[in-house]
Amino acid sequence: MSNAQTNQPDLLPNREKQEVGLRAVLFDMDGVLFDSMPNHAYAWSHAMTQFGLEMTAEEAYLNEGRTGSGTINILAQRFWGRDATEEEKQRIYRAKCEVFNRLPEAKPMPGALEALTAVREKRLSIVLVTGSAQASLLERLETHFPGFFREELMVTGFDVKHGKPHPEPYLMGLEKANCPASLAIVVENAPLGVEAGHAAGIFTLAANTGPLPDQILRDAGADLVLPDMQAVAKWFRSIAPAVLFIFAFSLGSLLTAFT
Ligand code: CA
Repeated sequence: MSNAQTNQPDLLPNREKQEVGLRAVLFDMDGVLFDSMPNHAYAWSHAMTQFGLEMTAEEAYLNEGRTGSGTINILAQRFWGRDATEEEKQRIYRAKCEVFNRLPEAKPMPGALEALTAVREKRLSIVLVTGSAQASLLERLETHFPGFFREELMVTGFDVKHGKPHPEPYLMGLEKANCPASLAIVVENAPLGVEAGHAAGIFTLAANTGPLPDQILRDAGADLVLPDMQAVAKWFRSIAPAVLFIFAFSLGSLLTAFT
């Protein structure tokens, strides 16, 4: 693999013959690395009421991964019949963050450290792709997962113009990792995040760590749905090194077969 920056067709002139290796795993953060979604759902629903907007916890889960401003605008459209102004978006997002920051710190997701360790043992790049723009959580990555994340391999809410479900965050993650879509795997937990990974053309593994039914994740385009991050860790551990050198054209079907 020498031609990292070329497009996929040029990269694989003889697709049937050329062996390629999986190179990067792109991890979402909330609901994947941290068990933070109950806090986010609570903070959204409580902050919104101060502004005459209503958001149920279930809706928070369904909108998980969207940028704060995108989420606020959906509610503004519904309750006010117009877009929220930039000033309103900032004020509401600040209120959400204030509620969130008063809650007890979310713990690392059980199995997340094991999954990261398994991925690192396979010598794959680890990329963070999150819609979150909360510095507190990003700093906590180093505390709970020391040495796994590097700033140049992170895409956050500060970087992107379009949040999930737009493919931009994952496309940006691929670019940072200098990796074509066919040689990467996304680990997500939410429907919009799965949609984003799928739209970026990446094999998307969903860990269903929240309350939504598996089918919502499959309908969003998940190539594989596993029940939790422990199962994700086990899945990565079970991939034999040889499986990482497979024919790119059948990456999706082969990986699905190894479950
Ligand atoms: Ca998530």
